[in-house]
Amino acid sequence: MGIVRQEMDKIGQEFYLPTLHPRDLWEESGRWTVMGDNMFRLKDRKGADLCLGMTHEEVMTDIARKELRSYKQLPQIWYQIQTKFRDEPRPKSGLLRVRQFIMKDAYSFDMDAAGLDLSYLKHYDAYCRIFDRCGLKYMVIDAHSGAMGGSQSQEFMVRTPAGEDQVVSCEKCAYAANMEKATSKLAPIEDLKPEGDGKPLLVHTPGKGAIADVAEFLKISAKQDIKTVAYMAQNPGKDKDGNKTLEQPVVVFLRGDHMVNEIKLLTLVKASQLRPMQTEELEKYFQGPAGYIGPIGLVVKPRETLGVWDRKEHAGDPKYDDRAVYVLLDEALVGRTNMICGANQLDYHFKNVTPGKDFQYTIAADLRSVTAGEDCPNCGAPLRIDTAVEVGHIFKLGYKYSESMGARVLDRNGKEVAPIMGSYGIGIERILTAAVEQNNDENGFWLPPSIAPFEVVVVATNTKDETIRTTAENVARQLEASGYDVLLDDRDERPGVKFKDADLVGIPFRINVGKKVTEGMLEVVQRSTRQTADVKISAITEYFQELRPAAR
Ligand SMILES: [Zn+2]
Repeated sequence: MGIVRQEMDKIGQEFYLPTLHPRDLWEESGRWTVMGDNMFRLKDRKGADLCLGMTHEEVMTDIARKELRSYKQLPQIWYQIQTKFRDEPRPKSGLLRVRQFIMKDAYSFDMDAAGLDLSYLKHYDAYCRIFDRCGLKYMVIDAHSGAMGGSQSQEFMVRTPAGEDQVVSCEKCAYAANMEKATSKLAPIEDLKPEGDGKPLLVHTPGKGAIADVAEFLKISAKQDIKTVAYMAQNPGKDKDGNKTLEQPVVVFLRGDHMVNEIKLLTLVKASQLRPMQTEELEKYFQGPAGYIGPIGLVVKPRETLGVWDRKEHAGDPKYDDRAVYVLLDEALVGRTNMICGANQLDYHFKNVTPGKDFQYTIAADLRSVTAGEDCPNCGAPLRIDTAVEVGHIFKLGYKYSESMGARVLDRNGKEVAPIMGSYGIGIERILTAAVEQNNDENGFWLPPSIAPFEVVVVATNTKDETIRTTAENVARQLEASGYDVLLDDRDERPGVKFKDADLVGIPFRINVGKKVTEGMLEVVQRSTRQTADVKISAITEYFQELRPAAR
């Protein structure tokens, strides 16, 4: 917490805001409803609605609209380190997903987008310094900005098997991204030679509905095959018949060995949910059976209608023809020729199919999921996929809160404008959890010295021995005087018990004061590597100063 505060003080000023918030503030931003069951709510004795703060955009914007009057007062970066509450649907033991946690949250207010860029960059740099100083190995990834679009957002992630997010990263360079943003460089593929006159050629493929079966039957690779995945994309709303959920047919064509990334797809078609097409829907749009559906003969919806959901207004417009579908081509198929695909006829496929020539599409886009081992888009080294936990997040909010809550300042020309905002979070406990996840073995864990509760534990192996006990006390006192956090273990316990306890609680260095004191020597054990070194009692402070200068 000290490290976070030191680095944040360099860029902003600290607040300490209430945890208990009135309903009115959250109504103004519209989030009283949006937060749903995730928010802890309560009533006071007069029956007024209150909530426990899960984040502080509303409260900070309220302060801003009361305090900020002029461009001369901007930019501002305001932060706090405070307890937050979230009624998690799946609270877990451990510290990764909990209902009460400490967060450093910060908010920036600027006159314009260029100012926000600068505030955002200041946070980026401060976060790097914080996590570096905490000894974490982390990645910065471009975060999925969801249906909102446009706003920049990055997450600071730490790899751990306990994590809940999947992150794609490069073995060699700094490339890292969420699964829903990640892409890869594909190895070139030799296309099949055209057969006959080069036009789509119907071939009999009895009982070969699955890609692997077709590939084997035709003696080709799945990479030569076009996979068809047919969905109904859904959005809440009302269509011309008054249906509650709007649905649109969406078909993705991609390489036979690739998988659709449904989040990329949802983002592209601006939908909230997907479901697979049913048999009768396949019949309607493809006029073909499952296993043999393909792109040839589809009625293609035009690009400008993609993501347009209000169907009432389009009733009767031929662009929204009842049989038309959105045909989405994965980028990996652009430029490919003479591929195999379903013929929309039971037991038949087409050969010689070239996307763009033999069938048209609404749009080509990156819609596939990256798999481990594919090439990094930057440098070509293999990509890996790990689970990770988010320790920090920086986000350009834009005008959402200043507009909805009426924060206004006067610009240089005396005109009232809304300040542009950013919000920035660090999960304090998560730093610790991530460090433990990153540094552990069968005997416990060790923490980087900067965040360990103690940097050194001095173990008197036998407290009944006067020389050992006083030496241990002196060494501990001496190191403490030199600025190290020292724990003296002078309990009347067997050395084995003390060593085990020291291993368990994460103290990075242990000094064993034992029989060798008669020779003027101590044993220093580094917890992470288990390396031991004999060090002269008289030189112990210098030894640590060389290893790691005291933090204060
Ligand atoms: Zn790379």
